[in-house]
Amino acid sequence: MDFGFSTLEARSIDFDKFDGRILRYVLQYEPSLLVCLSCGGCTATCSAGNLTDFNIRRLQLMLRRGEVENLQTEINKCMLCGKCLLVCPRGVNLRNVVMLIKKALVHFKNQEN
Ligand code: SF4
Ligand code: SF4
Repeated sequence: MDFGFSTLEARSIDFDKFDGRILRYVLQYEPSLLVCLSCGGCTATCSAGNLTDFNIRRLQLMLRRGEVENLQTEINKCMLCGKCLLVCPRGVNLRNVVMLIKKALVHFKNQEN
């Protein structure tokens, strides 16, 4: 169907190819991620983002799109300082989200071997 507009591939989620294992794992232990309103406060204050090309909002998008390889590349750039939690207006515990992504990556890698 032609809606007269198109979506940016870089900003969309393809639910037919979506690998939701890591997202489901994270939400099981940190459901606060569901109330994120994408305000960008975490990205603006992120310690790692100020020193590297790390972007915590982009990491969230990778998580929602199930981009396992990209998550593996980016996840260790987070310094686990917790500033993102202090500024978040919705109380999303991104530090814990990062820890859970790390655990999930190891968990599913072990399952594959
Ligand atoms: S500060 Fe909180 S609500 Fe805003 S984008 Fe980050 S996690 Fe989402
Ligand atoms: S815990 Fe990680 S994502 Fe959050 S502000 Fe610190 S470096 Fe950035």
